[in-house]
Amino acid sequence: MRTVNGRTDRVVVVGAGLGGLACALHLAGSGRQVTVLEREPVPGGRAGRLSVDGYEFDTGPTVLTMPDLIAEALGAVGEELDDWLDLTPVDPAYRAYYPDGSTLDVLTDTTRMAAEISRVCGPREADGYLRFVDYARNLWEWERADFIDRNLDAPTDLITANLLKLLANGAFRRLQTKINQFFRDPRTQRIFSFQAMYAGLAPHDALAIYSVIAYLDSVAGVFFPRGGIHAVSRGMAGAAEKHGVQIRYGTTVDRVETANGRATGVVTADGEFVPADVVVLNPDLPVAYRDLLPEGRARKLTYSPSCVVLHVGSKQGYEKIAHHNIHFGRKWKGTFDEVIRRGELMTDPSLLVTNPSRTDPSVAPAGRHTYYVLAPVPNLDRAPFDWRGDLGRRYADQLIGTLEERGYVGFGDGVEVLRTITPAEWEEQGMAAGTPFAAAHSLFQTGPFRPSNLHRSLDNVVFTGSGTQPGVGVPMVLISGKLAANRITGAGR
Ligand SMILES: Cc1cc2nc3c(=O)[nH]c(=O)nc-3n(C[C@H](O)[C@H](O)[C@H](O)COP(=O)(O)OP(=O)(O)OC[C@H]3O[C@@H](n4cnc5c(N)ncnc54)[C@H](O)[C@@H]3O)c2cc1C
Repeated sequence: MRTVNGRTDRVVVVGAGLGGLACALHLAGSGRQVTVLEREPVPGGRAGRLSVDGYEFDTGPTVLTMPDLIAEALGAVGEELDDWLDLTPVDPAYRAYYPDGSTLDVLTDTTRMAAEISRVCGPREADGYLRFVDYARNLWEWERADFIDRNLDAPTDLITANLLKLLANGAFRRLQTKINQFFRDPRTQRIFSFQAMYAGLAPHDALAIYSVIAYLDSVAGVFFPRGGIHAVSRGMAGAAEKHGVQIRYGTTVDRVETANGRATGVVTADGEFVPADVVVLNPDLPVAYRDLLPEGRARKLTYSPSCVVLHVGSKQGYEKIAHHNIHFGRKWKGTFDEVIRRGELMTDPSLLVTNPSRTDPSVAPAGRHTYYVLAPVPNLDRAPFDWRGDLGRRYADQLIGTLEERGYVGFGDGVEVLRTITPAEWEEQGMAAGTPFAAAHSLFQTGPFRPSNLHRSLDNVVFTGSGTQPGVGVPMVLISGKLAANRITGAGR
């Protein structure tokens, strides 16, 4: 494994996103002196916080999986997860609503889930589910050790015994084709393949290696921390500070200063020079290359679709919904084609509606409710819509109308607070192509083909976050923080 050259005692981490925080914890655990410079007044980046009129909204991730990775980062400084976070399993993990009026609960207990599938789709489908669980569990174990939780320097690093197992098990076939070998009912086919979208691809285009995402949420479990997902960011930042990491909020980094092929430190927007032996960059990788580094652009990448998020504080409660609700439209392949291939808004939307106040009433005023509605939309490279005009407002009205048609009676009338976040806001926050989901996980943007966490010419500049390896989402970004730290400390060789 390649590591940074020279001294590594003093590290400056730019950005207190989950990648930057995980990296800071691993570095502090190995005795480095770490300073984190964060532009915003709070930690978490995309896992941030929006507080409006007594309502508390998580700004980004809502589906929290793999808490053992948070435990691993905290464990690097000798802290216990339970001392920093109060996690509740979300049960059901999701409730799926189909256009024929049927619903299916996704339960992470496999026996209960087999019974639920048998009830909705029949016993043969439940057998397919149990075979799928075995398949995806194996894939996760083979992929995690060799390809995800490991720094990869070259494509030849991929040649391991586990690669042969993946090949033999069809993991490089198309995800939808593979899923359809286990499931015959279109409802189960959808609920175990829609997660390809998290990797920025349609299930018909993604590789079956990504069935591990369905495994992580549908089988390994979904969790919710008291106070919301932002509590993860606060807990990690608190533990880092307790162990000597200095976090300076409200400090924007303007550029990385270099001399003789090395970074010497960073310069803040106020003109302060902060010296460093190593600089770790957590901002979106292509934007870090473009705005903070002397050499300009990262290579050309294809980006994941973006999303519009509605944060709704409401008088209206709905008894029949769960914490996470997925409302599938009638179209399936056609919806992915609209958003990803043709750069159009969904004509028959599939939506995620999360209702955090159901699990934790403290996030809303007494008797009130919070809703988070996420609609995939094209990124700005694919479709440069003018979201700064009134498109955002019109699209929000349209989504509220769709929810009312799908059973959320009086949703519009219940709204007390509404904030609509569009690709224009993601772009303003420094995300390439106006998407918070980074480069898509196509074959040539995955593993060693994804932008490296080592700068291509500056010896002591390292990247962490969803723009680099292993990829997007809270679990991957936490791993990226550890991998970045390993490049500095030499651990994990
Ligand atoms: C709407 C939405 C829904 C999502 N849903 C899920 C989900 O359900 N499950 C899941 O696992 N993942 C989800 N994700 C993805 C997940 O949130 C991200 O992959 C992850 O949080 C990205 O972390 P990061 O560390 O790469 O970057 P960021 O969180 O973006 O951190 C970068 C940090 O750098 C700071 N920064 C940037 N520029 C500068 C500068 N010049 N100077 C100083 N500081 C700077 C930023 O303020 C930020 O704090 C979602 C994301 C969004 C936005």
